[in-house]
Amino acid sequence: MKIANKKITAERLVRDALKKAKHFADYNIFTFINEENAIKKAREIDEKIAKGEKVGKLAGVPYALKDNFLTPEGETTASAHILQGLTSPITATAVAKLEAEGAIMIGRTNLDAFAHGSSTENSYFGPTLNAYDKERVAGGSSGGSAVAVALDIVEFATGTDTGGSIRQPASFNGIYGLKPTYGCISRYGVVAMASSTDCIGFFTKTPDDMDLLMSIASGQDPKDMTTLPDYYNESDAKNERKPHKIGVIKEFDNESVNSEIRRALKEKCELLESKGHKIIELEMPSLKYALSAYYIIVPAEVASNLSRYDGIRYGFRSENSTSLDSLYDHTRSEGFMPENKRRIMIGNFVLSSGFYDAYFLKAAKARTLIIKEYEKAFSKVDYILSPVAPNPAFKLGEKVNDPVAMYLEDVMSVSLNLAGVPGLTIPAGRTKTDLPLGLQLVGPRRSDKKLIEFAKELI
Ligand code: GLN
Repeated sequence: MKIANKKITAERLVRDALKKAKHFADYNIFTFINEENAIKKAREIDEKIAKGEKVGKLAGVPYALKDNFLTPEGETTASAHILQGLTSPITATAVAKLEAEGAIMIGRTNLDAFAHGSSTENSYFGPTLNAYDKERVAGGSSGGSAVAVALDIVEFATGTDTGGSIRQPASFNGIYGLKPTYGCISRYGVVAMASSTDCIGFFTKTPDDMDLLMSIASGQDPKDMTTLPDYYNESDAKNERKPHKIGVIKEFDNESVNSEIRRALKEKCELLESKGHKIIELEMPSLKYALSAYYIIVPAEVASNLSRYDGIRYGFRSENSTSLDSLYDHTRSEGFMPENKRRIMIGNFVLSSGFYDAYFLKAAKARTLIIKEYEKAFSKVDYILSPVAPNPAFKLGEKVNDPVAMYLEDVMSVSLNLAGVPGLTIPAGRTKTDLPLGLQLVGPRRSDKKLIEFAKELI
């Protein structure tokens, strides 16, 4: 990525990014543009460079921030009406680390409200358009971030991935997107969706950029008790020059997966074989429970996490209330999107007495099976290569009114979050109609650094 130095100023980089953001306004990528502050910060970096002072590893690099990361710059809305008006006094740890190295946020990006969705159509601000076809979805929930990178507005963007929200939009827009191992990057200061599966990650144009960002953002954070010690910077990126064993999942090779995606997978397997690696077919029967388990566990956690939005403490408050109870009712009815409400209802249902054992507990058991399935798989192979989603970018409006059709889009991405393992979307060519195709490279927990390095074998 281009970093400010004596030859190219941070101000130039930032102004170029802001100009491009305006140029692509019709894609509906940004919920906020950080013009004034971004230019001010760029000038400060340029002064340091002029004085010969030390600057960070991301000096003057413009980036886009998914609008569910808290910072005092602009409102943090999570693309939900109920958070409008929320200016955060705190800065998310991941953002603080990026900015300490000189990265400059030029705007906040659109998402499915509270990250609930797979197309960015559930946003209060309307959908973001796909970078390659304006009639198609950007993917989601981090659609705005993916398109900002794909259209080359910024060098990188942040995302969150609870069940595919980084990997799927990355694949729909032809770029890299990493969901790290659960706990690798602090979730402090990020609007919670489902705390046991939420992961912070990035969109980039190259594996090297991904590595740089990971080396900066990863590590233990006293403010997030689920963070792991900084294994990322301690791990060795070298994939010892033995031939690697790459698993492909038998259950994903069927008619319900788009034929061009299956072809792309086959081609990448042939490429790996030509480099001396071994392709091994894996049976992973427990993965068939992943989607059902996910859509029980995640709504349960969503219902808990969203209960704090009451119209008193954060953002929007309805004017139509006559009592405290009706203030809660009106604020939540008017402030949440239909998909948010659906998940709150499902979540409370599966946690309610009488249904807890039948749904939540069963799903938790299925989750354990899935964790074991991945452990077994990684005793046989080094990595797994699989589709990210069954289809390339679909048409705007095609699935948004059919929640089950939308949930089915997540069938190949959610198991990684349940198991906590890392997954990296890699670009894998185009369809006949020129839509990007992507595949995900999956590794065991804490293999993130090696995974990024191995992705170069697939170029
Ligand atoms: N599409 C998935 C869902 O709707 C994943 C969302 C996410 O990763 N934030 O739950």
